[in-house]
Amino acid sequence: MWNWVHRLFFGPKGGGVELSYSKVKSYLECPWLYKILYVDLKRRAPTAPSSLGQSIHRTLEAYHREDADSLERLLEFYDEYWVHAGFASAQDQMIYYARGKKMLERYWELDQSRKSKIVFVEKEFEFPLGPHTVRGIMDRVDLSPEGKYHVIDYKTQQEILEEKDLSQNLQLGLYGMALREALGFVPGILSLFFLAHGKVVSIAYDPSREKRVRGILLDVGARISRREFKPDPRHCPRCDFRKTCQYSTAKD
Ligand code: SF4
Repeated sequence: MWNWVHRLFFGPKGGGVELSYSKVKSYLECPWLYKILYVDLKRRAPTAPSSLGQSIHRTLEAYHREDADSLERLLEFYDEYWVHAGFASAQDQMIYYARGKKMLERYWELDQSRKSKIVFVEKEFEFPLGPHTVRGIMDRVDLSPEGKYHVIDYKTQQEILEEKDLSQNLQLGLYGMALREALGFVPGILSLFFLAHGKVVSIAYDPSREKRVRGILLDVGARISRREFKPDPRHCPRCDFRKTCQYSTAKD
């Protein structure tokens, strides 16, 4: 009870902060961006790609929670959970809707030959790290017929990563750590599922990579605790706040 009350009013104990993959990613892109999002609590305006991503994630969550298996049901959920915000025009929305539908049709086809059992969808986790608390949500965790736990994160972006890039992937590293630390299961495989390509890119879990992930999280946590929010203009051209941020070098 005390822990809950303490966290509500003061955050994690001992000068720690609450960390998540999104928070750490924002901080690493630009510490001032982190401040805008998580200290000043300004919200990003919805965009066509973010609404498509949300629609697909909600659809797959509902589909697997129901343990449904027909394409019709999957597309019913898609209509139900479609997010209408963030599109430049009705035509733009139709283009994105069709793109998402294609992703789901491809996903359904691949899912028909799935041998693994889904054990978690949209699974929340929380674990302590030094003075900090790490929280997040995993899209999916499967158990393979060989008894290996498989962490899967869905991606709706067009860009695709290769297997060689995944050993340094912070999100997968953090989720692998979370499965072990918060849920008590040893991960076997970590994957990104690129839905636009119907392609799963995987690496085997390697506990020796956790040292690096832990180091990044502790470093970012310490800098946030010290309220170090120096703007990093290298990220300005890709930043959602580039038009309004006082430090933006990409306002035009
Ligand atoms: S516009 Fe530039 S300086 Fe401002 S928050 Fe974004 S990346 Fe940081």
